[in-house]
Amino acid sequence: MSKMDSVVPEKYTLDTKFKFRCHKGIKCFTHCCSGIEILLTPYDVMRLKKRLGMSSGDFLGTYTIMKIDEQSSHPYAILKMNDDEKRNCPFVTDEGCTVYTDRPANCRYYPVGQGTLKKDGKDGPYSEEFYFFIREPHCYGFHEKQQWTIESWRKDQEVDLYDRVNRGWKALQLRRNLIGQPELDPQKQSQFFMASYDLDKFRDFIFKSNFLNIFDVDTETVEKIRTDDVELIQFGVEYIKYVMMIEESLKLKQDAEKYRKSK
Ligand code: SF4
Ligand code: SF4
Repeated sequence: MSKMDSVVPEKYTLDTKFKFRCHKGIKCFTHCCSGIEILLTPYDVMRLKKRLGMSSGDFLGTYTIMKIDEQSSHPYAILKMNDDEKRNCPFVTDEGCTVYTDRPANCRYYPVGQGTLKKDGKDGPYSEEFYFFIREPHCYGFHEKQQWTIESWRKDQEVDLYDRVNRGWKALQLRRNLIGQPELDPQKQSQFFMASYDLDKFRDFIFKSNFLNIFDVDTETVEKIRTDDVELIQFGVEYIKYVMMIEESLKLKQDAEKYRKSK
């Protein structure tokens, strides 16, 4: 959501203190809702399509652009901005954000950013999360007196829920291709994108195709993903791992397994 030259090059932790307040009376109100690129997570899309009463396909077609990460070849969605320089985000008005209670995780975090470092420990590789600040010249929120820690900011902005639902998907997105591993082909990119964002299509794919005759999915999971979008996001992560051949996260039914081995 920010330009790189606005990122303060320091790593911070949950107990780091800062002063900030964003409110309707501030002179920069909504200035941060233009000239930005907002990466969307699966849970962002789920919340927004529900908020707007749209199918996931209609939401994606109307409000997003699909991009491909050059390094990993993984697909991801960004919010499609309109051409009005002052009112760039399709959801911003003079009154503020019209989808505020369902705004994307990146809008919630701002002006805090979150990063993940991959490290090698004595028990193998592990991930370390850290935080940074985005200080853009147009943002006057840092001149206000309200005091936060990064932890209390996260709580206030309800990002824990977003992070919890998106955790598995984020780990896949951050995964870099191993040396010698081929890039995802367009078909796999389209499967990755569908299972990440196009939940209605993904559900139809599971329940209206041969999927459940091929894959051995337990009854409890089948019932959950039939109606629960958050469960479907988690199942989508397992499906993507299978498609990307990261692990055998889905089991083939016996007949399908025999057929696969005979090929
Ligand atoms: S979704 Fe809301 S908070 Fe985020 S950029 Fe758009 S108007 Fe601003
Ligand atoms: S620029 Fe900063 S203070 Fe102004 S509305 Fe955006 S986040 Fe709030």
